[in-house]
Amino acid sequence: MSLLVAIAVFGFAYLLNITWISVFYHRALAHRALVLSPRTARFVVRTGPWITGMDPLAWVCMHRLHHVHSDTAQDPHSPVHAGIFGVLFAQLRSYRRTLAHLLLENPKYTRRVRDLDFGVSWTNRYGLWLLPYVVHAAIALAVAIPTGWWLVGAAYWFGMMSHPIQGWLVNSFGHAVGGRNFEVQDNSRNNLLIGLLVAGEGYQNNHHAFPASARFGFKPLDLDFGWPLCRLVEQLGLGSIRRDLLLPTPAEWEARQRVLEQRRASSEDPCSPPLPATSQCSSSTLHARPASPRRVKPAG
Ligand SMILES: [Zn+2]
Ligand SMILES: [Zn+2]
Repeated sequence: MSLLVAIAVFGFAYLLNITWISVFYHRALAHRALVLSPRTARFVVRTGPWITGMDPLAWVCMHRLHHVHSDTAQDPHSPVHAGIFGVLFAQLRSYRRTLAHLLLENPKYTRRVRDLDFGVSWTNRYGLWLLPYVVHAAIALAVAIPTGWWLVGAAYWFGMMSHPIQGWLVNSFGHAVGGRNFEVQDNSRNNLLIGLLVAGEGYQNNHHAFPASARFGFKPLDLDFGWPLCRLVEQLGLGSIRRDLLLPTPAEWEARQRVLEQRRASSEDPCSPPLPATSQCSSSTLHARPASPRRVKPAG
């Protein structure tokens, strides 16, 4: 019985955590693909450190640096430079460094989050970053000690504080193992297993080609659990999806490619409007050919 309860508790805690990270921190705050109402945004920012253990401003800043420097030596967490397992530690070091520079108001970091109207959370301003982990450990113990359901307590704690592992799965395998739908200038990949485990975040190649899209899935098998969550947020009146920036469907992409080919053949500017089905046009998304793989360091 306690095993079933533990599985259910882990599932709930994991889902809560990944909803805050993938839907709110990532798609809403970092990319504005989902525009939250001011009240929802305040709620997300205030509760975020407690639900995820991560400061929202530092997370967004580090993530934007990842997009700017993706798979270069300046990337906060790239398996190309740190190796698959090295990403686990690289992302932790980068997060701590980003937080420290934001607190010092280093313009190299603050300029990446100038558009956001909130600062570093008070727990992190006072060096209490461990506090959410301790609070959740206390809740887990409060459940486990009187009932003897230690497995349930552990499931709660690991589910709630699972972000470092989720982040590692996405940041490592999502940039090392998998196919590519779009030729972008980094090593991003679409990893179906990580996409399933981490609410669509495994489709890094789709995401890096269309970072402002709230939907990460492109092909029918690119199951993106974060997308229906975004739609739920919208249906509840808590925000609105930027549908003008959505990743195209395969049929729309094909149509777009045909138009681009025609324009290239006639030496026309390939980015001159109108193009069907997507508002994005950049050198990184003009080609649908699979890119040649770049070297990735062996695991470990
Ligand atoms: Zn990425
Ligand atoms: Zn992103």
